[in-house]
Amino acid sequence: MTRRKTLRKNCGRAFRSHDSKPQRREETLKPQAQSTVEPFLRTVADASRSLLLLDYDGTLAPFCKQRDQAFPYPGVTSVLQRIIQNSHIRVVIISGRDAEDTVRLLGIQPPPEVWGLHGSQRMKPGGPADIVRPDPAALETLAVADHWLRYQQLRHLAEFKPGSIAVHWRDLDEWEADQIRGRILLGWMHIAQDTGLDLLEFDGGVEIRASATDKGDAVRAIVNEMAPDTPVAYLGDDSTDERAFQAVNRHGLSVLVRPQWRRTAAQLWIKPPGELLEFLEQWLGASEKHDLLGSKGVAAVNG
Ligand SMILES: [Mg+2]
Repeated sequence: MTRRKTLRKNCGRAFRSHDSKPQRREETLKPQAQSTVEPFLRTVADASRSLLLLDYDGTLAPFCKQRDQAFPYPGVTSVLQRIIQNSHIRVVIISGRDAEDTVRLLGIQPPPEVWGLHGSQRMKPGGPADIVRPDPAALETLAVADHWLRYQQLRHLAEFKPGSIAVHWRDLDEWEADQIRGRILLGWMHIAQDTGLDLLEFDGGVEIRASATDKGDAVRAIVNEMAPDTPVAYLGDDSTDERAFQAVNRHGLSVLVRPQWRRTAAQLWIKPPGELLEFLEQWLGASEKHDLLGSKGVAAVNG
């Protein structure tokens, strides 16, 4: 069986993500969403710089059983490539993944800036991934957490990252997932509490981490690097994105990108990939309007 057929079998059309041609869109923004997006995009068109902050898994890419092959939705790479080439838009990816892994999957050259490991790792475009190395005591504790997984025969569900271990149960049935979640939380909670490590639950798993930095911290750090009043939006899907939504709500627009709605601090809900692509295209269009007319011209057009 060829690689392409294998990928299709496991993850469907998601794996055609490196196709350069944008896919035909089946969805556009609903009127209610459009009424929220339009005023925001007028500020984007009027500004010399805007800030687009994006989660990766579940937001730009569908979930995939083979995590190392979770490529973006069809059309996402293409529109992001054009957005990154627009000098008025700063794009930053903020992911729970390792930054280098995110860049590889995204498939954009030159790559955008990526904050990995929930914000505890930073990789500037073309640069190395900077991370605060865990102290020896934290590494010893992670080794204990790993040993516990091995003893419980759960290590096959683990993902090992710099300074953390994540266990994923998204692909298991509900009963088994609940069982494993209970066992992991019980076992790791004692380890984390006794040693000061962070225990972070996400949709479909939990992670034990040497760093307690979260996506909200990353958003605040990045926003602080921008001029005051820079239009900013954060797009994410997971419970770990809620802290980023809360951080960006003080400055701009927060967007839940998810097939199903759930309770959230985000101001807007859109469904991927159709509404996501529409949102990104509209952002790019707003910035191009600034290029064509300049801020005064945009203000005049907008009345
Ligand atoms: Mg996500």
